[in-house]
Amino acid sequence: MIPLCVPNISGNEGPYLQDCVATTFVSSVGPYVDRFESMMREATGAAFAVATASGTTALHAALHAVGVGPGDHVIVPTYTFIASANAVSQCHATPILVDVGADDWCLDPALLQALLATEAERDIAGTLRLKRTGGAIRAILPVFGMGLAPDMARICAIAKDAGLPVIADAAAALGTMVDGRPLAQSGALLTCISFNGNKLTTAGGGGAIVTMDEALGRRLKHLTSTARVTAAYDHDVAGFNYRMTNLQAAVGVAQSERLAEFLHKKRAIADRYATAFADIAPAVLPFAHPKGRDGNHWLSGIFCPTATEADMAAFRAALAAAGVESRAFWKPMHHQAPYAAAPRHLNGVADAIWNRIQPLPCSTHLTGEDQQTVIAAVRGFWGRAG
Ligand SMILES: *Cc1c(COP(=O)(O)O)cnc(C)c1O
Repeated sequence: MIPLCVPNISGNEGPYLQDCVATTFVSSVGPYVDRFESMMREATGAAFAVATASGTTALHAALHAVGVGPGDHVIVPTYTFIASANAVSQCHATPILVDVGADDWCLDPALLQALLATEAERDIAGTLRLKRTGGAIRAILPVFGMGLAPDMARICAIAKDAGLPVIADAAAALGTMVDGRPLAQSGALLTCISFNGNKLTTAGGGGAIVTMDEALGRRLKHLTSTARVTAAYDHDVAGFNYRMTNLQAAVGVAQSERLAEFLHKKRAIADRYATAFADIAPAVLPFAHPKGRDGNHWLSGIFCPTATEADMAAFRAALAAAGVESRAFWKPMHHQAPYAAAPRHLNGVADAIWNRIQPLPCSTHLTGEDQQTVIAAVRGFWGRAG
C-alpha cells in the first residue's frame, strides 16, 4: 500500500535521540527544546516561540491567554480539523461556526463580516456579544487549511474593527508565507503550529506558539510550563503542563534542519499531480489555491466538484484496489456530535466540498514510480468516468 503521508525520518533524528539518552536530558527541559524554539522563531520570523506538547495544547493555551473563558464564543471556520473547535471547548467556550470561501476553503471574510454586522451587538460595557446566546465573542480563529494562507489581510482588518484578537491555527502551515511575509507576521496575535506525524515536519507529537509580541510569548511560556515563579514551588496562576519534551524536540530539530528540502519536495509532488490531471478537469481539479496566495502543500490531492457520494466511494475503492491508501478528509464541524448545537453562519460551501476532496499520497520521500502508480489509478477512474 502506498501510504498517504508518513514521516520521513532519515536525518539526524537517531543521533539526537541518542544524545538525549546519553545526557539523560529526556524530559521537559533540555538543549533541544531551546534549539527547537530558536529554529521556530527563525522559520516563522517570530519575536518569540514557545514549544508545546501538541498543536491542540498550543491552541488551548493561546485562547486561554487572550481571555477566552466559560460562556464565551470564538469564531472558527466549520471546515477544519476538530482540534480547532476542541481548543475552544477546552476553554469552556463555544465556537461560532462560519463557512469557508469557495475559492480558498478558508474562513470567508465576507461571511465573517456579515455575522458580526447582523448577529452580534455591543452591550453597554462595550463587549461584543452574539445576540442569540448573549455570549461574548472573544477571538477569531482562522485556519490555514491544506497549509494555504487564508485572506489574513481582510480577516485581520475585520478583527481590528471589531476589537478582537486573531489566533491563527496554522497547525499544518509551517513554511507558508502570508502576503510575502513569514508565518508569524501574518497580522495574527498568536499563531499555533503542530508537529504531529502527518504534518510537514514532525516532533513525533508537539506544537508551537509563535508571536511578534514578546511579552505575550513569555507569558505563554510561563503559562504552558506550570506557571512556576520560584524554585521553591511558588506558582502565580493555575497554569498548564503543556511542555514539549527534549526527546520530542530532538526529533523536531532534526526535522527542522530539512524544512527547505521538505517544502521543495511537497511543492514538486503537488506540481506533478496538477500537471498529470490538467486534461481531466473539471472532473478532477487541484485543491483550492487562489492566485497570489501561498501554501506549503503539506497535503496533496484532488477535488472532484461534480462527483456524487457514490462516485467518491467507487473512486476510493479503485485507489485501494491499485494499492493506494485512500482516506476521506475533514468532515465539517457542524456535522460533528459535540458541535451539533453550536451557533453557525453557513452558506453551503463546506457541505459542497468536504466529501469531494481526496488526499493523495504525498510523503516527502514518495518515489516517482509510486506517484506514477497513483496518477495512473486516478486517471484510470476519472478518465473513464469523466
Ligand atoms: C493537526 C491539526 C491540529 C492539531 O494538532 P495536534 O498536534 O495533532 O494536536 C489542529 N488544527 C489543524 C488545522 C490541524 O491540521
